Amino acid sequence: MAQPIIQLDRVTKRFGELTVLDDLSFDVLPGEKLALIGPSGSGKTTILRVLMTLENLTGGHIAVDGEGLFHMRKGRREEPADETHLHRMRAKIGMVFQHFNLFPHKCVLDNVTLAPILTQGVTRADARERAMELLDMVGMADKAQAMPAQLSGGQKQRVAIARALALRPKIMLFDEVTSALDPELVEEVLNVMRMLGRETDMTMLLVTHEMGFARDFADRVLFFDRGRIVEEGPPSQIFTSPRQERTRNFLRKVV
Ligand code: ADP
Repeated sequence: MAQPIIQLDRVTKRFGELTVLDDLSFDVLPGEKLALIGPSGSGKTTILRVLMTLENLTGGHIAVDGEGLFHMRKGRREEPADETHLHRMRAKIGMVFQHFNLFPHKCVLDNVTLAPILTQGVTRADARERAMELLDMVGMADKAQAMPAQLSGGQKQRVAIARALALRPKIMLFDEVTSALDPELVEEVLNVMRMLGRETDMTMLLVTHEMGFARDFADRVLFFDRGRIVEEGPPSQIFTSPRQERTRNFLRKVV
């Protein structure tokens, strides 16, 4: 059995009185495609944000690639991570957001090259070469000089995917990446994700309301409610014969 690439061990996250992740444990295997589904407010996005270290934990432990995300090993003890450790761990993970978050005053090419140049010391020439390959892969090479405001939502999202890939992450997180798009633009973004699933061995976690896509794409589905996993399994089981009443209720409403 392969060693998990992500391990959540009794993770808790509270915002004030509100417990958003409640003693949550699960593993993700290298190359696995995992769909996180569940009602709004059940903590799905918070899981991705915690993995990106955009949020701290209230309790518990996360390991990525066998190393503590928020903790580093010092001899036999673990200590809170310093910035150097966090920086190194963050480079393993790329995230694509619902609202694209492109730099509005930079052209498409600069959006993709900026982080590798600034955070990984890649030369401008190498960053450009890699960016053009990635833009070609997502079908956006001809828009390399365009500004984000000149692009459709689907085009912006494809650039955002190329930008995340430019840092060569092992893990990609997709947070409802199609929910801000007009319906006719959804497929072009899902197609890029399908291609990544087919042609790379990246581990992919997606929060999605596209149940048809989750069903076709994911190796495993986790159904969340109130910061806990209610049920998990292969899509064939979760979508056709969910065991839990809460899962059945949710799927009746969304499918
Ligand atoms: P989901 O992605 O399943 O819709 P989220 O992870 O976005 O759920 O949110 C879970 C809960 O945490 C929600 O009730 C949300 O309002 C709350 N929450 C998320 N981020 C914050 C924050 N920074 N401060 C306070 N509450 C937050």
